[in-house]
Amino acid sequence: MSKILVLPGDGIGKEIVAQALKVIDSLNANNNLGMNLVHGLIGGSAYDETGSPLPQETLKVAKECDSILLGAVGGHQWEALDRPLRPERGLLGLRAEMDLFSNLRPAILYPQLAAASSLKEEIVSGLDLMIVRELVGGIYFGEPRGIEVKDGQRFGINSATYFESEIARIGHSAFQIAQKRDKRVCSVDKANVLEVCELWREVMEEVSKDYPDVELSHIYVDNAAMQLVKAPKQFDVMVTSNLFGDVLSDCAAMLTGSIGMLPSASLNKDNFGMYEPIHGSAPDIAGKDIANPLATILSVAMMLRYSLNQTDLADKIEAAVNTVLDQGYRTGDIAADGDTAIGTEEMGDRVVAALK
Ligand code: NAD
Repeated sequence: MSKILVLPGDGIGKEIVAQALKVIDSLNANNNLGMNLVHGLIGGSAYDETGSPLPQETLKVAKECDSILLGAVGGHQWEALDRPLRPERGLLGLRAEMDLFSNLRPAILYPQLAAASSLKEEIVSGLDLMIVRELVGGIYFGEPRGIEVKDGQRFGINSATYFESEIARIGHSAFQIAQKRDKRVCSVDKANVLEVCELWREVMEEVSKDYPDVELSHIYVDNAAMQLVKAPKQFDVMVTSNLFGDVLSDCAAMLTGSIGMLPSASLNKDNFGMYEPIHGSAPDIAGKDIANPLATILSVAMMLRYSLNQTDLADKIEAAVNTVLDQGYRTGDIAADGDTAIGTEEMGDRVVAALK
């Protein structure tokens, strides 16, 4: 029996996670899923209850579990807190503590939603891209960092740093995923300007020798951004650093029409994973029963595929989402002109009905 820590977090987090839990309950009852759930606190709601956005209890339970299902963190009411107390620090801390270095962000365009993309249908139709982002290193964590006074004026500093071992392990992650897909890895860097990227490129070449069946190419990040909106279907797996991956994966997400459709996984070396939608806590729509829960439901499918080795049930969830889209049900963010949107709760119920 697998043990999963459920962290709904803030904003729409509670509403969308509730829908994913309906799916888990249904699979537990009807498909021998065997998933045991424990609930915990993170983010702003954890700060309000315990004074910390990442309580020790959450960390302790996480270490006893097989995976984590997370909603989202953040909200305006916590923006004035000191930086270490802010909700986002709880999430960054959890990723770092569990050493979740490999962030998988698929960008898949469901054919039923091709019209929701901002790009022409022929450019995006059939898109199935996986961005593999290094998540616990690079400029987001590098030292020195801070704002100081130098030569009589304020001076801001962050440091882009990578050890070769950090690059190699994300490289292996990307190549192994490519082996299960179209066997092509494109590594994104800025090696023409940054030494840290020169090392990135060298190490990717070294890692590629272990995967003769996978083709490796390199692209500069500025060109990658351009190619993603010009001809995104040329890519299979893209692997990149923390900062570049943050930006490019949001760009890729929008190719698919809505941020509300896309799940993500963050894995450590033992395939322990944290699974969450790529979007944030959306305070503008929280509590209104209009958030799209599909990214969170699809995060459960990713958990079954990447951490729990229950691929058949992952397929079942993805098929149920497809069925619901085929039936024409849409939340507001993916509804086309003339569609009647359904709410968060109803979308959860529709997926559960399609599972049966
Ligand atoms: P956001 O992703 O929360 O929202 C961006 C836009 O997308 C909003 O208009 C929102 O209404 C919409 N949206 C997001 N998810 C949706 C869904 N499931 N269904 C329908 N529409 C959806 O980003 P933001 O507004 O920049 O940030 C809000 C808060 O979330 C901030 O506090 C930010 O720090 C936090 N955040 C958290 C995470 C995370 O928990 N992983 C990620 C990004 C942002």
